[in-house]
Amino acid sequence: MDTTGWNLKPMDAEQLRENAHKMVDFIADYYKTIESFPVLSQVEPGYLRNLLPDSAPNRPESLQTVLNDIQAKILPGVTHWQSPNFFAYYPSNSSVAGFLGEMLSAGLSIVGFSWITSPAATELEMIVLDWLAKLLKLPDEFLSSGQGGGVIQGTASEAVLVVLLAARDNVLRKVGNNGLEKLVVYASNQTHSALQKACQIGGIHPENCRLLKTDSSTNYSLSPDALNDAISHDLAVGLIPFFLCATVGTTSSTAVDPLLVLGEIAKNNGIWFHVDAAYAGSACICPEYRHYINGVEGADSFNMNAHKWFLTNFDCSLLWVKDKNALIQSLSTNPEFLKNKASQANMVVDYKDWQIPLGRRFRSLKLWMVLRLYGLENLQCYIRNHIKLAKLFEELVAEDPRFEVVTPRIFSLVCFRLLPPNNKGEKGNELNRDLLDIVNSTGKIFMSHTVLSGKYILRFAVGAPLTEERHVNEAWELIQDKASPLLKIS
Ligand SMILES: *Cc1c(COP(=O)(O)O)cnc(C)c1O
Repeated sequence: MDTTGWNLKPMDAEQLRENAHKMVDFIADYYKTIESFPVLSQVEPGYLRNLLPDSAPNRPESLQTVLNDIQAKILPGVTHWQSPNFFAYYPSNSSVAGFLGEMLSAGLSIVGFSWITSPAATELEMIVLDWLAKLLKLPDEFLSSGQGGGVIQGTASEAVLVVLLAARDNVLRKVGNNGLEKLVVYASNQTHSALQKACQIGGIHPENCRLLKTDSSTNYSLSPDALNDAISHDLAVGLIPFFLCATVGTTSSTAVDPLLVLGEIAKNNGIWFHVDAAYAGSACICPEYRHYINGVEGADSFNMNAHKWFLTNFDCSLLWVKDKNALIQSLSTNPEFLKNKASQANMVVDYKDWQIPLGRRFRSLKLWMVLRLYGLENLQCYIRNHIKLAKLFEELVAEDPRFEVVTPRIFSLVCFRLLPPNNKGEKGNELNRDLLDIVNSTGKIFMSHTVLSGKYILRFAVGAPLTEERHVNEAWELIQDKASPLLKIS
């Protein structure tokens, strides 16, 4: 290949060194100045079309011109998830350790679908997931030493999909493929929409996805009685209950489903029991929060997103199963071009059979770096600090009679709202929607919302690595500031 026309060769160690250093400097400067950007991007839809050419360049450009464009044209269209003033959704942590792992993963650029394609990628993933299972005190059946084990998925959505498919096929092997239309899934109506998507992909009849009602009396957690009633009803009409998804820390309001009782019901009915702790799982490395996953012993699968609140750069969703063969029976393929001695002899784990895609990145490096460079004690402090800051925010809200805390804070999310002035209860939703729009349009902080029992609720989720007490205090002052004029005009 003639590379004379290339300013930058496709791969040249010295050019990599020089340019990667520039990029690292660019990123470090970004973090240094991150508070100067509006947290929520303020661009209009389609803004980028006018700023970039219609087609790709014929001739190479310099890294500096590209960096200039990133600064001038891309960053305005970025919402700054790593800003200390980001309080929307749930956090999506980045960290130096996570970044280094991500960088190494990009640098080695392997595709670890089978053990042989990079033995270290498979083996490190097994070891690191065993480490984390131990930190979370998951039952031994989830460790890789027996019939179970852990695997890194891209997202919680993929995790629930693969276990739903495994559970589905377990049942269909017994009742025959004609049983598909009779299969029923159970969860609360607070369960993440990822479950519904998994049902759609998995061919579950749309009417057989039971999203059971919840209310404020149980803090929006799934009621075992409601589950029992639904199962009895379904059995009576000849349907086949097969999958229960419980959540520890719902996306809307951090509701915690009662795992112990739900697990017993699942067991008595031969139902696969999946626990989604995508966000709150991280907190369970602290002894004082571990009780929220008591009952995980009865689960068939458990999921936590290390990329949310565990300092591991997106994406890194951890899934453990007790029966790896259930996954493999649903998802394995064995084409000639992938055959190799180790796999044929059944001596190794081939993670391609535990996930939807074939190809997979060396993601365990990130989590391994996070665990080693920070250590358990610091990670526990990290979680505790965010919960302390959320508690502070909760207290500030509670002290102001114009506001109310809507559900008790459990982890680092505060659900609250501005109370509508006397006799104008019906205006409450509009009032809070307006407040959220006004606050977010300042660019100073970014919050999101949910709806509980028909009420529009503001969500303040603490969890960005750079967030300190002063950011929480300033956020509260801003919210109070913007609320005052709204109350006057309403
Ligand atoms: C964030 C979240 C999800 C979805 O996460 P993805 O990894 O983006 O699919 C699912 N469940 C819960 C409880 C969550 O908080």
